Amino acid sequence: MDTIRIDEMNWVDIKEKIERGYTTVIFGVGSTEQHGPSLPEQTDALQADRFANLIARELGKALQAPTISVGFSEYHLNFPGTISLRESILTAVVEDYISSLAGHGFKNIVIYVSHGGNEESVKKAIANMQNKFPHIKMIYYYTQDIYPAIRAMGQKYGLTVGEIGSHAGDMEASIMLYLAPELVKKERLVKGLTKVITPRLRKKFRAEGFNAITENDVVGDQTKALAEKGFDRKRKEVIGHQ
Ligand SMILES: [Zn+2]
Repeated sequence: MDTIRIDEMNWVDIKEKIERGYTTVIFGVGSTEQHGPSLPEQTDALQADRFANLIARELGKALQAPTISVGFSEYHLNFPGTISLRESILTAVVEDYISSLAGHGFKNIVIYVSHGGNEESVKKAIANMQNKFPHIKMIYYYTQDIYPAIRAMGQKYGLTVGEIGSHAGDMEASIMLYLAPELVKKERLVKGLTKVITPRLRKKFRAEGFNAITENDVVGDQTKALAEKGFDRKRKEVIGHQ
């Protein structure tokens, strides 16, 4: 399968592809932040990268720009390894991505966000850039949009919504066991907060840090995580060969 990643291509081939109708470009915006004692810091960044690639392949005639691997994760800084950009800086980075790509002939720019903390910055960047480049369609796609499908998968295995979790829960642990099992410390998969995050809890962790709501940084129960829950089987080939 030919690469669709523009950083693996040269400008001659990119130009030719755009002229042949590859007028959609997508990039992921993830984070580098702790995901409990078992999952790697790159959990969101890897998902952003792989999902953006999958979406581009499914759309067809789409190219992928490099993933932004660091996002806004200020409330995770109490755990070592987390790197956070200020929200204004993340907005500026996304704006510069868009204005760089806007002059190359793309008609659609899709931004796939895999981390909740990035939502506001990215939406702001899109609003600003949409005014500047009204001829380009900008599409925001957030990981939460696929939660119903992921929850349905977890429920098939008898898990509650609280166990499936969100940040570093069964859902993300299963995805990581599928995507990068070599980076998961399986002996440290743990149970964390199995309550659904309410607006009150969100306000609390935003103000006091994530360890104010969950000591081990896990929202959900990772102990029943399975690679086979990480992805729909029929998608396997697409994910495996990017
Ligand atoms: Zn995550």
